[in-house]
Amino acid sequence: MNDTNTASPQLILALSKGRIFEDTLPLLSAAGIEVLENPETSRKLILATNDPAVRVLIVRASDVPTYVQHGAADFGVAGKDVLLEHGGEGLYQPVDLRIACCRMSVAVNAGFDYENAVRQGARLRVATKFVHTAREHFAKKGVHVDLIKLYGSMELAPLVGLSDAIVDVVSTGGTLRANNLVEVEKIMEISSRLVVNQAALKLKRERLQPIIEAFERASKLQG
Ligand code: AMP
Repeated sequence: MNDTNTASPQLILALSKGRIFEDTLPLLSAAGIEVLENPETSRKLILATNDPAVRVLIVRASDVPTYVQHGAADFGVAGKDVLLEHGGEGLYQPVDLRIACCRMSVAVNAGFDYENAVRQGARLRVATKFVHTAREHFAKKGVHVDLIKLYGSMELAPLVGLSDAIVDVVSTGGTLRANNLVEVEKIMEISSRLVVNQAALKLKRERLQPIIEAFERASKLQG
């Protein structure tokens, strides 16, 4: 699958379903690539495009860097949140695509006095999927935390007393409001980046470079 024949190399793009997939379609169009199947209605995990040499892998958002790092995909689109947890090893990150924008924040139960807990040096229990980012954030602030790793629905943790706070990505804030949680601190802005396997960039540069440039131009127009 990971053909390195320089004449007409196969290109594999790793994407996750949902916002990243939707927001990447216009960038692909700008590079002349149209995905022929819809991952929301198809159960296929490898999607064809109008270019027989280009295929799209549908993987979990947090798995995109891993597929690209190991060369199972030549390139992909991943959020900064996911890349910070992965570490970015083996990945070239040429373009901030400015898509799937959101922020990483700390949120607590509406009644919880976060400022006071932090001031008093209380040991906070923080539930999150983003343990690296959360650890670094609280270490910089000098706040002692017990991190509780979750894989989804972080919002539930403070509601049932599993944690005092969560670190999660927030877009409209609707999910927090619906669960009576309050955003108390923004950690960073998040957007999605193009990631490219470093070996593929060398071996398939002729094919990849125009796509990277088209993505870059289209993302600047969007932003
Ligand atoms: P919202 O209610 O609009 O604030 O969206 C928050 C929920 O959607 C959170 O539970 C997030 O897991 C998810 N979410 C929103 N935006 C993104 C994004 N850009 N990347 C990944 N997850 C997101």
